[in-house]
Amino acid sequence: MSRKIDLLDHGFVELIDALGSDLTVVNSARVSFGKRKQELDQGDERLIQYLVQHQHWSPFRHVQLQFHCKVPEFVARQWYKHVVGIVYSEAPTVDHAWNEVSLRYTDASDMDVYVPDGFRQQSQDNRQASMDQQVADSAGLQNEYKKHCEKALALYRRLIDQGVAREQARGVLPLALYTEFYWTASLQAVVNFIKLRKHETAQFEIREYANALESLTQLVVPVAYACLQKKP
Ligand SMILES: Cc1cc2nc3c(=O)[nH]c(=O)nc-3n(C[C@H](O)[C@H](O)[C@H](O)COP(=O)(O)OP(=O)(O)OC[C@H]3O[C@@H](n4cnc5c(N)ncnc54)[C@H](O)[C@@H]3O)c2cc1C
Repeated sequence: MSRKIDLLDHGFVELIDALGSDLTVVNSARVSFGKRKQELDQGDERLIQYLVQHQHWSPFRHVQLQFHCKVPEFVARQWYKHVVGIVYSEAPTVDHAWNEVSLRYTDASDMDVYVPDGFRQQSQDNRQASMDQQVADSAGLQNEYKKHCEKALALYRRLIDQGVAREQARGVLPLALYTEFYWTASLQAVVNFIKLRKHETAQFEIREYANALESLTQLVVPVAYACLQKKP
């Protein structure tokens, strides 16, 4: 399986690097007994299950995963709310290892915009949700949406051409613009993200990313991931 998964019309998630494996979880727990294993066996799988059952989470935090993500801006804003358990840096408070393309440095003129396949109806009984059914003139509205985004990008280019600072010109860009970031998080934090964001109450677009993260995480820690699914 590839380590990069394409999503939506221009997005992707790529597993850049991983620190640790199933054995890392096991050895982090076994150090209590002064033991270290070189290979995973069935006893270790039972140990991982035991750790999950007894909510002994710290061994899962020794595994770290680094992803390169390209997502629409509004997905990035939802993603950014996941701040605990993310790689620690020098700040005195909890923070996350998140580095993103900066529109102060970078010209957004040729950046991609997310255009959905179709427009879902607003849910009538859940203020934050959408329904699977599309609105009546989804294709026509999609056309309008595209034109609107193109116009916003055209105005941006005009501002840039007139010498306006990139940091101000970006104010006219649409929320559907793609952004890119590196996100490094512990296995525990990634699993928490996946659980919350692949849930049916999460937005379709971020659910796509959660499913991709799940596939990539399973590549790194297949046993620990399976055990964590049985989390109490
Ligand atoms: C469907 C959905 C709708 C949402 N709607 C909104 C919305 O309308 N507005 C909005 O602002 N946000 C919204 N959110 C974001 C949500 O409130 C969380 O900020 C986000 O999901 C991150 O989850 P988290 O706190 O578990 O993650 P992390 O920050 O990664 O935290 C991981 C875990 O650490 C623990 N933890 C975190 N903070 C503390 C703390 N201060 N003290 C003790 N333990 C802590 C918790 O166990 C937590 O689950 C929504 C999320 C979802 C999934």
